[in-house]
Amino acid sequence: MKTLDNFDFKNKKAIIRVDFNVPLDKDFNVTDTSRIEAAKPTIIKVLEDGGSVVLMSHLGRPKGQSNPDMSLKHIVDKVSEVLGIEVKFAEDCIGEAATTASNNLKSGEVLLLENLRFHKEEELGDPDFAKELSQLGDIYVNDAFGTAHRAHASTTIIAKYFKGSKCFGYLLAKEISAIEKILKTGEKPVTAILGGAKVSSKITIIENILDKIDHLIIGGGMTYTFVKAQGGNIGDSICEDDKMELALTILSEAKKKGVTVHLPIDVIAADDFDNNANTQITDVGSIPDGWQGLDAGPKTLEMFGDVILASKTILWNGPVGVFEMESFSKGTIAIGNYIDKATKEGAFSLVGGGDSVAAVKQFGFEDAVSYVSTGGGAMLESLEGKSLPGIAAIIED
Ligand code: AMP
Repeated sequence: MKTLDNFDFKNKKAIIRVDFNVPLDKDFNVTDTSRIEAAKPTIIKVLEDGGSVVLMSHLGRPKGQSNPDMSLKHIVDKVSEVLGIEVKFAEDCIGEAATTASNNLKSGEVLLLENLRFHKEEELGDPDFAKELSQLGDIYVNDAFGTAHRAHASTTIIAKYFKGSKCFGYLLAKEISAIEKILKTGEKPVTAILGGAKVSSKITIIENILDKIDHLIIGGGMTYTFVKAQGGNIGDSICEDDKMELALTILSEAKKKGVTVHLPIDVIAADDFDNNANTQITDVGSIPDGWQGLDAGPKTLEMFGDVILASKTILWNGPVGVFEMESFSKGTIAIGNYIDKATKEGAFSLVGGGDSVAAVKQFGFEDAVSYVSTGGGAMLESLEGKSLPGIAAIIED
């Protein structure tokens, strides 16, 4: 894997695809700088080598048209503050404005280009547009995992104009090696904890990881499709009836592959989908009509805990209850605590994919796990075993 460390950037201009798609408030202030901070080590490495940096990113969904609300000029000051250096800005990402600004850039300087998605050619992966972008730098660096599953001009197509002079940034390299630890190189036993609402959204992941894991913990809303398929009573719990056969197939495939599947034993059932609903603890297969399982029960958590604490490599994707409601957040918090403990005892833990990242942030487990993936869709597609075009474009020279 070619990273920044394979290059000396002295007197070179790095053109870096970053993900500065940051949240802005109504006055266009950046409300969360984590994505900018995440790209900082890559930028600093180039500057410290004695090179200069051209940064390109998208912001929001301007759909191929200029839109002042989504201009990257709003973030220039924040990027300057985070990097500790005054960042220059080009009012377009191609053409005269970009070319002049890039030509004038000296070693140690940073230039931020205007929103790539103001041009429809970006998302279309247009080769001429990618070529124009490529002329703004000597070495191409991709450090945007969040868009690595898109074959856009700046994430993929541009790479072909940099034969022998392209690499991954530190952030992207870290994401790739974290996923490889789960899918290829992780120490056994490897455990995947899959929760969330639906089986249908996780099926491709399950199919891909069954060959790679030793234990599969299933929690959250997905549980009930499995339980009903096995003949349990799930009351009014969420269920995908059309996926019941698939659930049984997953269980038999897992058995064939030597994967131990752990389904909840008991649940917190509620008489309404409401934080203030009445609740009771029931066996997972004996939920009365009018009640729905909204969180993992105590016996389940203890059992899940034993599996997690015995694991050396852990993937967590999806909450095990309706964590947005306090009354049903305890299971998800308990899982976070077990992963925290396992990680402290030497396990590698990766949290990724939409709602589990939100849960980890909400409950303050960000520093407790080994790695929190920043790329929602890209992370899910990697776990599904798909080759990401942005990554392939750097690897194929
Ligand atoms: P996902 O995006 O697939 O990871 O799903 C996350 C969502 O699943 C969260 O919004 C949770 O509230 C929801 N969820 C988790 N457990 C349950 C459950 N038992 N019943 C209904 N929804 C659930």
